[in-house]
Amino acid sequence: MTDMIEIDGSFGEGGGQIVRSSLALSLVTGRPFTIENLRARRDKPGLKRQHLTAVRATAEVGQAEVDGDEIGSRRLTFLPGEVTPGDYHFSIGTAGSTTLVLQTVLPALLTARAESKLTLEGGTHNMFAPPYDFLAKSYLPLVGRMGPRIEATLHRPGFFPAGGGCFTVTVSPTESLGRLELTAHTKKVSPRVRALVANLPEHIAQRECDTIAKKMNWDKSCFAVEHVSNSRGPGNVLLIELESDEVTEVVTGFGRRGVKAEHVAQQALAEAKAYLKAGVPVGEHLADQIMLPMAIGAWQGSGGGVFRTLGLSMHSKTHLEVIRRFLGVQATVTEDGRDDCLVTISPAATVE
Ligand code: ATP
Repeated sequence: MTDMIEIDGSFGEGGGQIVRSSLALSLVTGRPFTIENLRARRDKPGLKRQHLTAVRATAEVGQAEVDGDEIGSRRLTFLPGEVTPGDYHFSIGTAGSTTLVLQTVLPALLTARAESKLTLEGGTHNMFAPPYDFLAKSYLPLVGRMGPRIEATLHRPGFFPAGGGCFTVTVSPTESLGRLELTAHTKKVSPRVRALVANLPEHIAQRECDTIAKKMNWDKSCFAVEHVSNSRGPGNVLLIELESDEVTEVVTGFGRRGVKAEHVAQQALAEAKAYLKAGVPVGEHLADQIMLPMAIGAWQGSGGGVFRTLGLSMHSKTHLEVIRRFLGVQATVTEDGRDDCLVTISPAATVE
C-alpha cells in the first residue's frame, strides 16, 4: 500500500479546508491519510456536520475505509478505494454549506471514467462559504475550461438557519485537466447587482441596491431585486457580479438579523471596490479554490497554470501546503505589489 500521509490539522489556518482538500486529494491520488488535531484553531474544534458530510460523501464516491467519522472527532483516517462515478445524493441535514461538500467530491469525478450526477441538500448561501451563485458563475466555468463539462442547476436556495436548499451538478469528465492562465489585468468589467429576498420584505433588497447605486455610476439596468418563492426559511443575499474577459467574480453580502441592509451593501461594495482597484482577475476566495483543480492538472502532467490575484490569504497559504504534501507539485508566489501577485502551479520536474 502507498505510504500514509500524516497531516497535522492545526498547522497554518488550522480549519476545515485542510480536511476537505486532504479528502479530495486522497481520492485523486489514491493515497491514504491520517489527520490529527482536526480544525484545532477553531472555536469548536473537530468535525462539524458540513465536514462530516464531506467525509462520508468522499468515502462513498471513493469506496474508502474511514475511521473517526463522528461529529466533534479530532482525528480521521481515510483509506481510499476506487473512484466510482455515478448518481449520488448528499444531504447535510442542517443548513451547513453544500457547495463546500461539492468541492470536496468534485475533483476526483472530473477525470473519472464516466459521467456523474450529484444532488446536494442543505445550505446553498452560507456566510464564510461559496454561495451557489459563486459556484455556478465563477468557479465551475473556470474548472470547465480545464476540460470537463459541468452543469449546475439550483432547485431551491437554502439559507441559515432553515437550510433545505437543493442543487444538482452533472459532470462529464475529461481524461486529464488542462492548463489555465488568468494573468491579464482586468480592464473592462460589466457589473450586475442582484439582491435576493426570501420570506422577507422587499424593501431590504431595494435598500441594498439603492446603497450601491448611490455610490457607483452603474446603469439602472444593472440592478435587480429578486424574490425567492420556494425557500424553506427567510433569507437575504446581495450578489455583486463582476464580469470581465477572463472571469466573472461574485462578491457576496449576507443579510442577517440585527444588521442593516445598508451595512450589508456597504461591506460587499467595499470588497468589490478593492477587487476592482487591484485590477486582478482572481479575487481572494476564487484564488484559494481554483488552486486545487489547477494543481491536480499539474500533477497529471497536462495542466497547472498561473493566475494573478490579490495578496494571498492565510487560507490560501495553508491550502497550498496541503496541495504540496499530496501532489508534490511546484507552487510559487511572486508578488508584483501588495494587492497583485502571481501564483504559478507546475509539475514537480519543470520550472516555468
Ligand atoms: P472552518 O474554517 O471553521 O473550519 P469551514 O470548514 O466551514 O470553516 P473554511 O475552511 O474557512 O470553511 O473554508 C471556507 C471556504 O469558503 C474557502 O474556500 C473560502 O474562500 C470560501 N468562501 C468564504 N466566503 C466566501 C464568499 N463570500 N464567496 C466565495 N467563497 C467564499
